[in-house]
Amino acid sequence: MKKILKNKFSQLCNHVSKDYELYVPIENEGIVNFSRWEDEVNINLEIKTNTSPKNFVFPQSETYLKFKSEGKKLKIERVDEEREDYVLFGVRPCDAKAFNLIDHVFLREPVDRLYEEKRNKGVIISAACVEPEETCFCSSFDINPEELKNGSDIFIWTLENSIIWKPLTEKGEELTKKLEDILEDVNEKDLKELEIVKENIRKKIKELPLASLNPQTIQGDLNELFESEVWDQVSKSCLGCGACTYVCPTCHCYDIQDFDGQKNSLRFRCWDSCMFSDFTLMAHGNPRVNQKERFRQRFMHKLVYYPNNHGEYACVGCGRCIEKCPVNMNIVKVIKKLGGEI
Ligand code: SF4
Ligand code: SF4
Repeated sequence: MKKILKNKFSQLCNHVSKDYELYVPIENEGIVNFSRWEDEVNINLEIKTNTSPKNFVFPQSETYLKFKSEGKKLKIERVDEEREDYVLFGVRPCDAKAFNLIDHVFLREPVDRLYEEKRNKGVIISAACVEPEETCFCSSFDINPEELKNGSDIFIWTLENSIIWKPLTEKGEELTKKLEDILEDVNEKDLKELEIVKENIRKKIKELPLASLNPQTIQGDLNELFESEVWDQVSKSCLGCGACTYVCPTCHCYDIQDFDGQKNSLRFRCWDSCMFSDFTLMAHGNPRVNQKERFRQRFMHKLVYYPNNHGEYACVGCGRCIEKCPVNMNIVKVIKKLGGEI
């Protein structure tokens, strides 16, 4: 374990940005999002970023083929993006865990090359969650916001005058080595202060309004849950706007479309949402004919299908869907209803 004094933090960023593109959570008019680091930006590790950082590995839209017509011939060209090595500093533990969850989808055979390239180029530095928000419930999914064991390459804790730095992977060790002139060894006093910080986080997490939410209250076999009358009740107000899926760090559905530029055309993929009426629309029609069926798909996937396939829930309790839904519907209400709590 190492540490960096807070008054040397700019120096650290300068060093990192020599070898990597460095992205940090920057506050702008009360909204925090990841942006490229530059001197004197307003870094904020306390407010949750408005959107999740999944767009670094799974951008909202990306081109993967170009095609050109020459007479009757069609020339297809693969597009390979030259992604620089990058560092994402200050990722919340819930968002870091979400990278792990979408890895199960994109990195299993057949591996998604666009995702893999971006994932391999990034170093994730996750920060202990010192200011969990009222809408947070990561502990319901066994995520430890005071010390995440996997999902990031380096884990940091903010103390009064320093930042404690713990590499967790080979990539993390590599970056740490490059910074050995700036990082210092921790001492007994730092470790004591660190324990206090961790204890404070544990206390805050226990006191959150959603701390007792338990997805394991959802019982019953797949058919029973699928046919449950709860879906009629919870889906009634859903507008199908897709906001919940776009802000969700674990949602990963996409559509493939062509841009017809006459002689030079592009094939690109872009985020899609199971809440949209044309999602899964095929030549014969759409297998999900109403909003209830679309709504059920989103939550059955997160709470039943994905855990059945991968052994964990596809939600990290970041709370963004609670904040963004225009009709105040969200996964918490679904868990409570399906689990018989309300
Ligand atoms: S479903 Fe909601 S709380 Fe869960 S990860 Fe997605 S946005 Fe966050
Ligand atoms: S944000 Fe709310 S209204 Fe919009 S699709 Fe999601 S649940 Fe439905």
